[in-house]
Amino acid sequence: MVGIKEGLVFNIQRYSIHDGPGIRTVVFLKGCPLRCVWCSNPESQNLFREKRFIEKRCINCKKCISICPVNAMNQQRVINLDKCLDCGACIDTCYSEALQYVGNILSDEEILEEVKKDLVFYKDKGGITLSGGEPLLQNEFVSSLLRLCKKSSINTVVETSGFVKWDTLNELAELIDLFYYDIKHINSKIHNELTGKPNELIVENLEKLLDKKRNNVIVRIPLIKGMNCDFENISGIGVFLKKINYHNEVHLLPYHRFGTGKYKQLDREYLAQSAEIPTENDIRNYSSILEQYHLTTKVY
Ligand code: SF4
Ligand code: SF4
Repeated sequence: MVGIKEGLVFNIQRYSIHDGPGIRTVVFLKGCPLRCVWCSNPESQNLFREKRFIEKRCINCKKCISICPVNAMNQQRVINLDKCLDCGACIDTCYSEALQYVGNILSDEEILEEVKKDLVFYKDKGGITLSGGEPLLQNEFVSSLLRLCKKSSINTVVETSGFVKWDTLNELAELIDLFYYDIKHINSKIHNELTGKPNELIVENLEKLLDKKRNNVIVRIPLIKGMNCDFENISGIGVFLKKINYHNEVHLLPYHRFGTGKYKQLDREYLAQSAEIPTENDIRNYSSILEQYHLTTKVY
């Protein structure tokens, strides 16, 4: 379904100032190999188009229920996926757009056209940022899109979990001006518990990527108190970054709960109920731990 020239995109956000240098257009690609329990973009995870129900928009006309040819939708607008034919009739009939698809197939040219609308804002710094999900999961599409961007002299940033084949990272690196590279937990067993995957590939890839593009990689640490903010993890990341001669800033991304409502829209359970938002004092402490390894931090 998803070809080289086409990708599955779930959002395009314009005028972002937090996803790379200058003003950026952020293209969110669907699909992720990880399942971080705190994920604020659960709609990004599956590499297929999904349906969501936004209850506050619903006017309770029940047309969606009556139009369904196979009675796949119950009174709460939950769809039985075993029955659903994915005909789209319920979404087409929903006047208030309470029922929606998440994910559109767009071509590289269509995205470039969108991105070019913002050229005037980029000046000498801004550009396109690919986010997700894990954008490099759609590596052939990313390659095609970034080649077009480079032809138009558009600056390129990619936000990655690093959980991709080294060959993929290696091949795409020449097209990417800056990587934002997440380290979530330094202990592979705990990493597996929190994200569904071990971390060996991620840390190995980071080391190789630094050998290739040392000045073009920014490490980011999501801070989820109660999950990955203990001294052992923060200092363990510091030890690791020192060992691989990482000298750039470390970006700290404090946990927030903005994404929790999206789980209900997708009829999924939010598994990070015990996660806490770190206080300003907590964040100062995490920064000072990393400073002991001569790392400077910036909080987002
Ligand atoms: S068609 Fe839309 S507005 Fe009407 S009941 Fe269904 S979800 Fe609600
Ligand atoms: S997509 Fe079609 S089959 Fe599936 S719930 Fe909607 S109307 Fe029913």
